Amino acid sequence: MSLLSKLNHFWRPTVDQQACLRSKGLDCQLCTQACYEDIDLHHPEQSAPRARCTKCSECSAACPVHAISFPFSRWLKISPKTIIPTITSETSTIESVTPKALPLSPKQPTQNYVFNQALRCIQCGLCKQACPLHNEIPAWMALLRGNHLIDAVEVMHSTNSLPEICGLVCPQERLCEGACSLGKLDGPVKVGTVEHFVTTAAIAQGWKPDLSRVKPKNKRVAVIGAGPAGLACADVLIRNGIQPVVFDRYPVIGGMLSFGIPSYKLDKLILQQRQQLFSEMGIEFHLNTEVGKDISFNELLKTYDAVFVGTGTYRSKTAGLEHEDASGVIQALPYLMAVNRHTMGFSETEQQPYLNVMGKHVVVIGGGDTAMDCVRTALRKNAASVTCLYRRDEASMPASVKEVALAKQEGAQFRFNVQPVELQLDNSLQVTGVIVQSTKLGALDACGRKAPVVIAGPKRVIAAERVILALGFEAQHMPWLDEIGVELDNNGYIVTQQSTENALQTSLVKVYAGGDIVHGSDLVVTAIADGRRAAMSMITAMEQ
Ligand code: FAD
Ligand code: SF4
Repeated sequence: MSLLSKLNHFWRPTVDQQACLRSKGLDCQLCTQACYEDIDLHHPEQSAPRARCTKCSECSAACPVHAISFPFSRWLKISPKTIIPTITSETSTIESVTPKALPLSPKQPTQNYVFNQALRCIQCGLCKQACPLHNEIPAWMALLRGNHLIDAVEVMHSTNSLPEICGLVCPQERLCEGACSLGKLDGPVKVGTVEHFVTTAAIAQGWKPDLSRVKPKNKRVAVIGAGPAGLACADVLIRNGIQPVVFDRYPVIGGMLSFGIPSYKLDKLILQQRQQLFSEMGIEFHLNTEVGKDISFNELLKTYDAVFVGTGTYRSKTAGLEHEDASGVIQALPYLMAVNRHTMGFSETEQQPYLNVMGKHVVVIGGGDTAMDCVRTALRKNAASVTCLYRRDEASMPASVKEVALAKQEGAQFRFNVQPVELQLDNSLQVTGVIVQSTKLGALDACGRKAPVVIAGPKRVIAAERVILALGFEAQHMPWLDEIGVELDNNGYIVTQQSTENALQTSLVKVYAGGDIVHGSDLVVTAIADGRRAAMSMITAMEQ
């Protein structure tokens, strides 16, 4: 156990109240702005818990009057060599900062912060087991402690095709960081932050995957979908000498990474950078090409040695309310996709019209992470108010606790235990409100969750000029798959083999599939894991 880990519990920042500018009536907030964990030393009740302090001492460095100190810091001076360049946060957002000044891209950690996280790691390896990719986290941390940045990045890429992205968007509290031994003691090691920072820094320094020793095998695989599943499959294939050719109907790679996840969580320039790296590795991209429309599946089957299907899930679940197609009502995915298209400079489409929420009262129906993305996006687009309606209680929300807390901090209102029963429209058929009834939690449903039961009583109207429905996704119908005889389950998801040998092979020997179109709407990291496993299965099959 490192010295820092042993001192974790006692090593907390202290504020010299007399020196602090607050004693002179100024609330400068520089320390809070510097804190990567959002700890406010002066307003603990409104901030993240102090236990999250990772001793990076950024607050102390930011304080103009040196009012913040750490015990032992005079004796214990540890700092990394300057091997990691400062990353400038670029945002491709075309609009200027909103009046509420909500962040438009994730807060960037400092090199010092990341180095201190590596020092805290006690090498127990529980994080590796909890990561769906079984990333070699203790090994990277050890390499980083020795300032071996490039070696750490190579190890990261040995199990993950998009580490800089997973580090940003994985729900780490449920995965690697949730398993960290230090979690209960003094907060987990910030694995995701380290993964993102180190990969981004290495790419900025000019690191590129070295494929000079890969021997071409004279085989070609068509990959349908440039989302995380398809990209991961292509990455593993090219590193093993097999030529992947990726087809996607959209103009840029990434799938939901580009068009679903909001840009304040994932800067779209990261995808551009990765697209360039993949192209330089030799992966061929055929963008703006929809399989089933611009090119037939049969032709791919005839031309390629194997085909991978990673087409994601794009059909929105409906709320079952009358007038869901009324003016001012939109599904979450078209809403977020249109905002992302706008951010990236693409024009709106008939399927994804841009819904302007500026100055409007917005209601979001749903309680998952996509609902939180809609809430926080609408706030950044200057909605007059954003209210989220959820039919169970707060504790039952599927959205991550952090997302809900951030949405609240940013000004969203929440109404729990309400069931939308009707949409209210004006004479021009524009939505004006959502009519709701109160609910209580009843018996367990088929999924083992307490079902919401409507309580008989008066209906209430929640005023809304814009309503966003965020109720989840289902598999879209792909007639070109049906026609060729690929087996689907009752919900339209592709059935695949789970055995290690032929993992992710479909009912057609040459066709493999993975990601959301196999498991239903899930995570970036699980889609990557699928793409990688499918590629390994194909390689094994081609070698036989
Ligand atoms: P996708 O990412 O959907 O990619 C599928 C690709 O296939 C698309 O590019 C599509 O254009 C292409 N395609 C489909 N049909 C065709 C065709 N016929 N021809 C050619 N191309 C085709 N996960 C996280 O881990 N963290 C998050 O913070 C997170 N936030 C999310 C926010 C939103 C709003 C949404 C919707 C999802 C979020 N997810 C998040 C889930 C995550 O994005 C998905 O689980 C993941 O992207 C699935 O990867 P995939 O490759 O299976 O599919
Ligand atoms: Fe954690 Fe996700 Fe990285 Fe795995 S891929 S180590 S779960 S952030």
